[in-house]
Amino acid sequence: MKRRHFLKTAGGAALLAGSSLSPALMDLYAFSGQGNLSTVEARYYKKHPDREIECELCPRFCKLGDKERGYCGVRENIGGTYYTLVYGKACSANIDPIEKKPLFHYLPGSSALSIATAGCNVNCKFCQNWEISQVRPEQVTHYDFPPQAVVQSAQKNSCPVIAYTYTEPIIFYEYMYDTSVEARKKGIKSVVITGGYINPEPLVELTKVVDAIKVDLKAFSE
Ligand code: SF4
Repeated sequence: MKRRHFLKTAGGAALLAGSSLSPALMDLYAFSGQGNLSTVEARYYKKHPDREIECELCPRFCKLGDKERGYCGVRENIGGTYYTLVYGKACSANIDPIEKKPLFHYLPGSSALSIATAGCNVNCKFCQNWEISQVRPEQVTHYDFPPQAVVQSAQKNSCPVIAYTYTEPIIFYEYMYDTSVEARKKGIKSVVITGGYINPEPLVELTKVVDAIKVDLKAFSE
């Protein structure tokens, strides 16, 4: 990739603030607005008596009654079943140089179709994407962009890799996982840009379907 092209694409993506989509991807999107959330059953949770549930996806282990949401704001207990509200609901999608992730030694020079949904399981004061990470999905514009459409879009735009990024992909685990499975069938790689705040079991399963994980050190206590 020529330096000028890299700076142009990276610069455009650096302007990311709030919901955003690349014009090149628009034909595969369907505008979804701010309501119209998904109700796909979440993975990694335990049912308790009285319609209570306990989420086991990340170390927060949110314990929730009926109609309550987890700390990340994108997973909700509805009548004792736990749902992800952001499956296939991208609020940002752009084509970035993979070096922006930054992954310098994995498919260098390639373009990564990069997607995010609203929400995060931490609240860093320094977050550069706080307008989409620190909100509920109803507070941002999002688009119907199911796994198959993401993969088709990557193929159409000559992106050999899909990146789950911008916010915290762990909180849209099911969407990321299923997209990675579809991508692998077509020979497209998947990379995860994450704070790494996830429990061991879902992490081990995720490593079976993605190709690279880049962990940001957000904080430490010692
Ligand atoms: S993924 Fe969300 S709901 Fe689940 S434990 Fe973590 S913060 Fe709570």
